[in-house]
Amino acid sequence: MSTLSPEDKKILEESIRDIPDFPKEGIVFKDITTLLNNNQALKTLMNHLEERYKTYNLDYVAGIDARGFIFGSILADRLNIGFVPVRKKGKLPYTTVAEKYALEYGTDEVEVHIDAFPKENARVLLIDDLIATGGTAKAAASLIGKVGANCVEACFILELDFLKGRDGIDCDVYSVLHID
Ligand code: AMP
Repeated sequence: MSTLSPEDKKILEESIRDIPDFPKEGIVFKDITTLLNNNQALKTLMNHLEERYKTYNLDYVAGIDARGFIFGSILADRLNIGFVPVRKKGKLPYTTVAEKYALEYGTDEVEVHIDAFPKENARVLLIDDLIATGGTAKAAASLIGKVGANCVEACFILELDFLKGRDGIDCDVYSVLHID
């Protein structure tokens, strides 16, 4: 299994920009657009993820709306497997299965197509840019199970460790970078 070298970790950490007080006061938004427009950083990240997951015998990568689509589809292509979007409610055109999750105020919902994973008992990697409270990823992992596939691992580029979001997720969790 590949480990991230200190040099590569530095490249990735330096490529993600902090935006204080976005989208509201008190939140430090981790902006990955500065990783995406930096070819060295994006390649470093994708090489690391490809190396880690090439031995996992995965059937699909499922990405969470919307930044998980970017990393997820690049990774799926590198692993020569299909990509499945886990979308916010109301965006998918065919029959869907949905899962609600709590936000600070109110609830939100994610959906997948009922036939999103055509292979029986598919092995799925779930991916998103960041895990905070874990509510979104927990709902997405549960959806994967509801439509008959197995979420073998949930992968994040960044984890906010102090929120302990990984504790609620019913599969292995891997984060490339951590903030204590
Ligand atoms: P959560 O459900 O609390 O784990 O929130 C995760 C989702 O919200 C992910 O899709 C993230 O992209 C987004 N998110 C939450 N907090 C931040 C943050 N500080 N910076 C960037 N994105 C965030």
